[in-house]
Amino acid sequence: MEFSELNLPDYLVSTVAGLGYEKPTFIQEKAIPVLLSGKDVIAQSETGSGKTAAFALPIISKATPGQGVQCLVLAPTRELAEQVAFEFRRLSRNKKLAIAAVYGGVDIEPQISALRRSEIIVATPGRMLDHLSRRTADFRRLQFLVLDEADKMFEMGFIDDVRSIIKTLPRERQTMLFSATIGPEVRSISSDYMKAPHMLRANPYVDKGALKQLYYDVRPQDKFSLLLHLISEEKPGLSIVFCATRSRVDTVTRNLTANRINAVAIHGGHTQAKRNSVMRDVRTGKVHILVATDVAARGLDIRNVSHVFNYDIPKTSVEYVHRIGRTARAGKSGKAISILAEADHENFRHVMEDRSLGIQRQPVPSFRRVAFIMPKRDFSRNFPRRIVAGYSRRR
Ligand code: ADP
Ligand code: MG
Repeated sequence: MEFSELNLPDYLVSTVAGLGYEKPTFIQEKAIPVLLSGKDVIAQSETGSGKTAAFALPIISKATPGQGVQCLVLAPTRELAEQVAFEFRRLSRNKKLAIAAVYGGVDIEPQISALRRSEIIVATPGRMLDHLSRRTADFRRLQFLVLDEADKMFEMGFIDDVRSIIKTLPRERQTMLFSATIGPEVRSISSDYMKAPHMLRANPYVDKGALKQLYYDVRPQDKFSLLLHLISEEKPGLSIVFCATRSRVDTVTRNLTANRINAVAIHGGHTQAKRNSVMRDVRTGKVHILVATDVAARGLDIRNVSHVFNYDIPKTSVEYVHRIGRTARAGKSGKAISILAEADHENFRHVMEDRSLGIQRQPVPSFRRVAFIMPKRDFSRNFPRRIVAGYSRRR
């Protein structure tokens, strides 16, 4: 099918042509006509399959300049909110719409004026609630609500905020849920907020020919040496190394740097200014290896990520699918390599419960053992459990 057959206005057909999109992806082909007809939609399709444009194009075609905030997109991380806002700007370049990204950790004042003059808002829930309680957001003319990474937005830690935000929105609106992973709980919660949603489903997984998944099982003291070995053997392009905690991210980054690898860390313990500058450096090719917590697992579309390494294994197959989905996007190929040791076995069993994944065990090669600088101290151990729990929820 062609973009010109989707009933989109001509200026959008030429915008996507200008961006080099030759044909609509499967989910775009399915979702765009249904969204243009005004129906609510729950859409699932694999990572990197162009879900952003699938909801953005119909919204852009229906939004009217100068008519107040008409669309709210909620996303789980600040980086994703920034990226989705950027995508809306690219796609709306032939229409005079203003798009604001609204998230925490940065000055609120510029957001207040942006909220006043924008038609489309892309926000993380916490800061959006903050604006609602300050009465700096006016949603009376809102027509579209999008939950990107919808299953994440319905998890603990987000759902209460999301519910509070939705309560303030007009009931007469079109609601859209998008994610690569949508389980039964999404459908059940969504029934509170949607009107006879149209379900759309594509293959949840990236084609196995495009995304190779491997794992190695090693002794804990060998994890880092193997990572280093694989980086030198595989000669990956831009890569993401996922770790379980902020302090592990810092330690692994420090050790990679000590071995002359161009690595930078990103996690929720950094200031937002630092996070934004790291993302800029990653996107402009100044960084070879991004070491991250799951703050980078969802939705981020970074060009040319050739490898994803799981230095620690995520707790669920769902989070595994999102992490590895940072590579092999939009028809490109990629490799996901998990490095397991004893402490990962339980998590890995949970991941493997999803039998369709197809992760291949690899024999452990011989590699040079390198020294590993240990973290100075893990302060979290000295905090009372209650505080640590609240703290660790923020990535
Ligand atoms: P998802 O949300 O499904 O993970 P994204 O919306 O982030 O995927 O899109 C992934 C990449 O594909 C982006 O770089 C986007 O610009 C690109 N893209 C979107 N639609 C098309 C298309 N029809 N043809 C080619 N590339 C596309
Ligand atoms: Mg997405």
